[in-house]
Amino acid sequence: MTTFHVLGFPRVGAKRELKFAQERYWRKELSEQDLLALAKALREKNWKHQAEANADFVATGDFTFYDHILDLQVATGAIPARFGFDSQQLTLAQYFELARGNKDQFAIEMTKWFDTNYHYLVPEFSKNTQFKANPAHYVNQYREAVANGHKAKPIIVGPLTFLWLGKEKGEAFNRFDLLAKLVPVYQQILTALANEGAEWIQIDEPALALDLPKPWIDAFQSVYADLSKVNAKLLLATYFGSVAEHAPLLKSLPVAGLHLDLVRSPEQLATFADYDKVLSTGVIEGRNIWRANLNSVLDVLEPLKTKLGERLWIAPSCSLLHTPYDLSVETQLQEKNPDLYSWLAFTLQKVEELNLLKQALNHGRASVQAQLDASQVAADARKNSKVIHKAEVAARLANLPANADQRKSPFAERIAKQNAWLNLPLLPTTTIGSFPQTSEIRHARASFKKGELSLADYETAMKKEIEYVVRKQEELDLDVLVHGEAERNDMVEYFGELLDGFDFTKFGWVQSYGSRCVKPPVIFGDVTRPEPMTVRWSQYAQSLTKKVMKGMLTGPVTILQWSFVRNDIPRSTVCKQIGVALSDEVLDLEKAGIKVIQIDEPAIREGLPLKRADWDAYLQWAGEAFRLSSMGVADDTQIHTHMCYSEFNDILPAIAALDADVITIETSRSDMELLTAFGDFKYPNDIGPGVYDIHSPRVPTEAEIEHLLRKALNVVPKERLWVNPDCGLKTRGWKETIEQLEVMMKVTKKLRAEL
Ligand code: GLN
Ligand code: ZN
Repeated sequence: MTTFHVLGFPRVGAKRELKFAQERYWRKELSEQDLLALAKALREKNWKHQAEANADFVATGDFTFYDHILDLQVATGAIPARFGFDSQQLTLAQYFELARGNKDQFAIEMTKWFDTNYHYLVPEFSKNTQFKANPAHYVNQYREAVANGHKAKPIIVGPLTFLWLGKEKGEAFNRFDLLAKLVPVYQQILTALANEGAEWIQIDEPALALDLPKPWIDAFQSVYADLSKVNAKLLLATYFGSVAEHAPLLKSLPVAGLHLDLVRSPEQLATFADYDKVLSTGVIEGRNIWRANLNSVLDVLEPLKTKLGERLWIAPSCSLLHTPYDLSVETQLQEKNPDLYSWLAFTLQKVEELNLLKQALNHGRASVQAQLDASQVAADARKNSKVIHKAEVAARLANLPANADQRKSPFAERIAKQNAWLNLPLLPTTTIGSFPQTSEIRHARASFKKGELSLADYETAMKKEIEYVVRKQEELDLDVLVHGEAERNDMVEYFGELLDGFDFTKFGWVQSYGSRCVKPPVIFGDVTRPEPMTVRWSQYAQSLTKKVMKGMLTGPVTILQWSFVRNDIPRSTVCKQIGVALSDEVLDLEKAGIKVIQIDEPAIREGLPLKRADWDAYLQWAGEAFRLSSMGVADDTQIHTHMCYSEFNDILPAIAALDADVITIETSRSDMELLTAFGDFKYPNDIGPGVYDIHSPRVPTEAEIEHLLRKALNVVPKERLWVNPDCGLKTRGWKETIEQLEVMMKVTKKLRAEL
């Protein structure tokens, strides 16, 4: 019989129940007892769904009140000492303080979980971190599942991945040296689970899909020799990439089974064909929303079954935490776009797919023929759909003129033509696009969406807002103005709603961090721009002022990164399609007299593949897609781009190759360190380093901005330096926004007088 299991379930509930309960608890509107009860009910529901789908184990230990890596910090006693908490006696309130900060301590830093949009809390290790086992989190969930009558498989992230994901704090040392102290603590946690009766324990080591240094890889042998002394079978889970390069090592580890992500890297299966223990095959995509073609999956699984027999396990490729909960509640989508609906599978549908695969493997395809046929019909329809495969889109991409992604002239010539009409002072000032999204703006949008406000009234409200933003910028004496983006709900969703090839779910939420969820648009078909998207707004804004109005678009890479992307054509093709569609908008803006256009790409860095060897290929197509989005513009049209959230030091050549006339970047929090890297690299075009942090309402002092600007002038020639905040201002209030920009303007004018 084939075993079916999952690597983890979404935690927040089908309707984001956990989020709302947590937030009420934080506002002291919900008691701890009620929050605990709700969490228990959510876990029970998750297990019930797994059991009803015939999973052989339910997953435990995966449920968390905030983050599974924070849970692991508690379980190993490695919470940051600066909080002064006892990890053995940690209260729920203290747990949340670790995650969210308190009046004395800032929160534990957060960063992206591999290449997903989930964020984990980064462990803070110091030279004398003392680990101490506290298995309660894992043991309690396991007990609870067993008490509910389930056969359960606890899940824990492994010691090498845990250490790798952490950061070193304090006195210099190598956190790898902590391994010897950490492993015994893991042994205690695993032993506690074995003592509860856990037959199998899943240990996740997704770090195996990264470029780990050799000592780290070598350590797997002894670490897993130690862990396998525990009286339970260990399933070593890898995901998010191929581990084929480590095949000899993985085959020799004394674990009882290995899980491979065969969606991301189907080709690695061949390397593990002679694996002689349990092989868990991740065949249903855990990170995306597409329904599988079950017949094709069976074509892979059936020969494996013949070879492996009982040793074949089936599973989603990775934890389902990255997938929304239940497609069946998307009735609106089902009515509006029944084709797309029939091509999708969320968590509950994916476990049902695994159920069908298990039936087919155990009892033959005929036992589930009707369901396999339905899966085939959907796959065929998707493959042949004229709605998603548009000949004209493919033709346009295939027939782009030579060097379509290159500007007509080199930067030096362009900037001279741009400066000739722009007539800007030295150190020109601008902002990144958005101005405060006030509650009035949000209310107007909500009422409009509910149908309580007419389109005309909504537009009037937005125009009023734009006028206000323009007047304020004139009063501040900014040089290049923006319209403020009041009409945009979100920088990706706004464009997704106006481009063809996109659709939206109502409840397709996935956890981003803690109680925060995102609802990415779905890119399901070839992308086109049926009509202008931003031109009216920018034109209106320009009509209000004699100053230059900057048009504002989200770039193709960012739109791609923050969406669920179709999996039937390469991501690079989707990205270029978006670039080409955006170029239609850019040219329309230019025609309408908007000749400074910003194309935001904050997500360019987060698209980088997990392995360095794959970086160049990605940067090449991402860059091409970005450049395509302004294809055909005149030399004297000035293209800006904006990036934030990250370091770019290691990809500066690719950033320069984007060839934007002006780039604005987030730098204030790193004291212009990032800009120094741009300077050392001799970044060729204009650059606007952010001179104050927009994440805080705090008004910077003149001295602070002056310090940053002088530093910038040391590394960038004064003719090429712009002055702007770090990022958009939509999360700020008006009062501090004005005060902050006033300081920025005052210091800029002071320095101009000296230059
Ligand atoms: N133009 C966007 C804004 O100002 C950019 C946002 C971002 O970089 N994340 O809001
Ligand atoms: Zn930004």
